[in-house]
Amino acid sequence: MAENISRYDLERLVEDKRWLAQQGELASYIPELKRADPLRLGVSITTLDGKTLSVGHCQDAFSLQSISKVLSLIMALMDNGFDNVFSKVGMEPSGEPFNSISKLETMENHIPLNPMINSGAIAVSALIKGDSVAHRFERVLNFIQKIADDSTITLNEKVYFSEKATGDRNRSLAYFMKSTGVIETDVDEALDLYFRLCSINVTCCHLSRIGAFLANKGVIPGQRQPLVSEDIIRVANTIMFTAGMYNESGESAIRTGIPAKSGVSGGILAVAPGRMGIGIIGPAINKKGNSIAGLSLLSAISKSYDLHLLT
Ligand code: GLN
Repeated sequence: MAENISRYDLERLVEDKRWLAQQGELASYIPELKRADPLRLGVSITTLDGKTLSVGHCQDAFSLQSISKVLSLIMALMDNGFDNVFSKVGMEPSGEPFNSISKLETMENHIPLNPMINSGAIAVSALIKGDSVAHRFERVLNFIQKIADDSTITLNEKVYFSEKATGDRNRSLAYFMKSTGVIETDVDEALDLYFRLCSINVTCCHLSRIGAFLANKGVIPGQRQPLVSEDIIRVANTIMFTAGMYNESGESAIRTGIPAKSGVSGGILAVAPGRMGIGIIGPAINKKGNSIAGLSLLSAISKSYDLHLLT
């Protein structure tokens, strides 16, 4: 491994943080997510030579949820370019919960504040190119499979149906954006793609590989040619840094010092540029929708391996 990380030290960090899960709760508004074991905690680290170390409950599969927002942003930027994407979504941290609706009405042109909150991600999913929802989904799924080096990554159908059955808040965000012209394509298709992308099943190991790709300027570790331009990766990492943990992004930036993106299933994708990618699962989340033990573990890992970007 390119970095000096011992399994023993990482196991100790995980064991130190596991109890914190008792202070969080499983996301319940998507019923299928209630089936997870809240006390599980696992982490994988992939260094830029492509080697991965995994400890704790790292074999468990979980749905990407909001972590998919990073990948759809990258895809939309590749499909449309920077100016077109950022005419439909902003770049500012929101300071609001991830499913907030209030700012949409007051923002200039009613564009969502950033691509890491639900409204922004739905607007971004409307920009992904393809002949049908199935084709668009397949493009993003193939992209994820390639980066994570696993062609078996697939949709969790139970989560997908659960998302759809309870997705009225997201529908209201999408229909509002349709009414204001932020979404110009078929609104139901944009929503369907968003629900599907949130429902892709991954493991910590997949997340850490995706993180290593983001840490390696868009080059999959072990390969030579970039899959995505350095400029797009810089945008994705910066938006993760300022907005990836919703209204806890400022605190996360202070405590961990690296770009990170969470999802309500308790996953965290983190990127230490030039160093490593980190994938964490800890299904018990706090009120802001972030894994409670996972975020604390990430901050401990950052301290142990001196990852903070601003020190
Ligand atoms: N699928 C979830 C939703 O739309 C994603 C939210 C999240 O992970 N924060 O509400």
